[in-house]
Amino acid sequence: MALMTLVDLRSDTLTKPSSAMREAMAHAEVGDDVYGEDPTVNSLESRVAALLGHEAGLFTPTGSLANQLGMRLLVNPGEEILADYDAHVVRAELGAAATFSGITSRTWQSKNGIFDIDVVLNLARPNAGPHLVSTVAIAIENTHNFGGGTIQSLDSIAKLRVATLPLGISLHLDGARLWNAHVATGVPLAEYGAHFDTVSVCLSKGLGAPIGSLLVSSKARIANARVWRKRYGSGMRQVGILAAAGHYALDHNVDRLVEDHRRAREIATAIAKVSPSIIDLESVMTNIIVLNMGSHSLDSPTLAAKAKEKGLIIGSLGPQTVRLITHLDINDDDAAFAISVLTDLLR
Ligand SMILES: *Cc1c(COP(=O)(O)O)cnc(C)c1O
Repeated sequence: MALMTLVDLRSDTLTKPSSAMREAMAHAEVGDDVYGEDPTVNSLESRVAALLGHEAGLFTPTGSLANQLGMRLLVNPGEEILADYDAHVVRAELGAAATFSGITSRTWQSKNGIFDIDVVLNLARPNAGPHLVSTVAIAIENTHNFGGGTIQSLDSIAKLRVATLPLGISLHLDGARLWNAHVATGVPLAEYGAHFDTVSVCLSKGLGAPIGSLLVSSKARIANARVWRKRYGSGMRQVGILAAAGHYALDHNVDRLVEDHRRAREIATAIAKVSPSIIDLESVMTNIIVLNMGSHSLDSPTLAAKAKEKGLIIGSLGPQTVRLITHLDINDDDAAFAISVLTDLLR
């Protein structure tokens, strides 16, 4: 079979480390991080904590682990955390909060993942007494993955903080793609970070590192998270080689996210021209495009299969839901190719 172009828009986790990033990894200074002696990990932890306006950080292999440690710090067994019905922490982490931490959860509905403060506060039941479950934390996802990479407004976040502080409700930010929100809005990362007790961020999505996430919070909480990380079997040794990829990503791959956003917008606009009913252009705020095939003659798996025959790989997330994500390894030619394949098939 002849070699065919393959453009893969399933996820921004698919990026491969560039040769310059690999070079940085190869030359990283390392030590045993379980002893706290890996200088590259230590500097990455301080760097990301400072970026987000927090005292301390903890390097983790995955964003899921960073989220799980964050939630564990805020919620005792038998207490509850509230989250969006499509939040990563309740849908994509396989029940980890319940399994490992005895945390219960309830969820709110939203359009495109954007939270409405009144809906969230109506759901909250702080200090519910000895007979009912007490709400002690709320998780906010920014940008919102299944919502289509949507951005939560700083104003709503600030209002939620003001309303929940006197209720004794803590806030966790799943900031796997907070970088995208920051670049799209110009809001400094620390301004987002200031409203939360714990924040997780991923280096392995749009920033292009092969692995790595961080949890940031107060010194005392992070000391506790370090113990739990080890207990979960994720105390790591000379992982400065991985942290070096994170430093490289922060140096080179944050500002360029605007290009991913521009290409996503171009693809979304082209799709809306041929098939306006399957896309909500307003929801395309960053690098993610969600298509709802409900009103189209092709269903999601069929569109994905036909696109793949032409060399374009897209994510089919259900019978009607298609997800397209632009990333570091997608250039202008790839975006133009995606547009031509998709507009041909959808027309
Ligand atoms: C990717 C992602 C995570 C973390 O995923 P891992 O695969 O565990 O690193 C967390 N939250 C959101 C919203 C994500 O998209």
